[in-house]
Amino acid sequence: MAKNGTEIGRIRELEEKIARQDAAIASYREQCARLNAYKSERDLYVELSALFATADTFDDVLKQTLDLLSRHIKARYYGVFLLNAGGANLRYGYGKGYKAGFIPGLPLSGTLMGDALMERRVLWIPNLKARTDYIQLNQDPAEYNLLCAPLVLQGRDRGIIRLANIDPDSADTGKKMLETIVPLLCSGLERLLLMAQSRRALSGLETNFRIARLLEKTLTEKSILSEVCGAIPKLYECAGCVIAIRDKDGIPRPVFANPPDFHLAGNPGSGLIYLRNLVAAYPKGSALIPDVHAEKRWSWPDYKIRSLCMAGLSYANMLRGVIVTVGPADVVYDRANVNVLGLAAAQASMTLERAAYLRRQEDLARTDGLTGLLNHRVFQELLRAEIDRTRRYGRPLSMILFDIDHFKKFNDTYGHQVGDEVLKMVSRTVRGVLRRIDQAFRYGGEEFAILLPETALDSAAVVAERIRQKVGANKAVRNLSVTISLGVTCFTPDETPEMLVKRVDDALYRAKESGRNRVVRA
Ligand code: GH3
Ligand code: MG
Ligand code: MG
Repeated sequence: MAKNGTEIGRIRELEEKIARQDAAIASYREQCARLNAYKSERDLYVELSALFATADTFDDVLKQTLDLLSRHIKARYYGVFLLNAGGANLRYGYGKGYKAGFIPGLPLSGTLMGDALMERRVLWIPNLKARTDYIQLNQDPAEYNLLCAPLVLQGRDRGIIRLANIDPDSADTGKKMLETIVPLLCSGLERLLLMAQSRRALSGLETNFRIARLLEKTLTEKSILSEVCGAIPKLYECAGCVIAIRDKDGIPRPVFANPPDFHLAGNPGSGLIYLRNLVAAYPKGSALIPDVHAEKRWSWPDYKIRSLCMAGLSYANMLRGVIVTVGPADVVYDRANVNVLGLAAAQASMTLERAAYLRRQEDLARTDGLTGLLNHRVFQELLRAEIDRTRRYGRPLSMILFDIDHFKKFNDTYGHQVGDEVLKMVSRTVRGVLRRIDQAFRYGGEEFAILLPETALDSAAVVAERIRQKVGANKAVRNLSVTISLGVTCFTPDETPEMLVKRVDDALYRAKESGRNRVVRA
């Protein structure tokens, strides 16, 4: 009995010892598991840090992060869901396991992902079946648990990392890992965003600088606008751009587009109406519409486009036109875009104003103020140019020189003002008779010259006769009869410009001598 009693005591002792050792082993195991989890978490952290050294685009970073997560956390589904530009919907970005085609755009409210974003914390739902109050991803009814981590960049909600059907062993560590790495991931992504933003700002500045450089060249309005239209898409992300100029009735009409077949609201007809509405609603020319589809006033059927920015081309305090740009669906324009575009438009406006000024000066220097015809200096220039052309191509060139008969009489009898009226009437009549390629000049006081390229002597004589008759028939100035005498000639090879002018002048002299009001051929 005593022996038995001792044995039982020893057995009890041994059993207690075994129990103590079991407890110690369990505790070691637990510590090991914690250490392993810690090591795995630390490895993940290190790998994620390294990732930013190699991946330098948003997409790359997110894709590689998913790769990392799939190596460290055992799950069936890994996905990145991104907020659409409007901010109300989530769309599938990248992932593993999910069949992208089956995942619709998800509203934010009423989804677990929406909750994770709103609460800005990692959300772990061990049993999805119990949560029937939420909208499910319809592509896989077999999702039974869910882990969501919010991506918040520069204070703005951007999306969600979503893992589902996580292995029970991975669940706890998975949750902890996401809590650790998501802040790191977000700050890395923010850095990329900042880099992209500063690159864009720089490119905007460079483009503006290029537009400013246009000032250095003297250009026509057309070539300035075409160059500016080509440069605009380099200012910032831009799916299309159109430059419109107001016509003489003040209605804005597109003159250049980039790409060339780009139209506001998708087609030429609606584009015109859209443009008119836009300019009417923003008479200063500057506008920002973050979402054209949210705009109740006008419709834009194409959902590939989201934001619109407009800046005015104004000079002499007048809105002459506008530059309109639109961005792709995933880009939301803000004030910064309007400012950059406004700067470009201001540069373009200055260039246009200067070009118009130079053009006006040039016109003034070339035309006669009273009659609007080209002046004697330009006659000398064009005569030489036409003779060069004629020599080169062997084409005919004719010239008419005429003088108003007894012009002094009009001045002396009715005053200089009436004399001036007669000069204007004669100029108008001449212009009405000539073809587009003919050029009329006020040669001297009441003498006029006409150059007729591609015209042989016979045809030039017909033109001269027609001018004589039309002037003679015109009684617009105080019912006065005005007649003219004309000399006409055709250029002969080996002649100098001076010889040609001398011959036609002689013919005019003979017309005067032989009784005036007639055409004489040289
Ligand atoms: P003819 O038939 O021989 O040509 O006689 P004419 O009276 O026309 O003679 P002439 O060519 O010598 O006269 C030219 C006159 O035209 C002299 C000048 O006072 C006048 N004249 C020249 N330029 C202008 C102008 O811009 N306005 C006016 N009202 N008169 C001008
Ligand atoms: Mg005269
Ligand atoms: Mg004269």
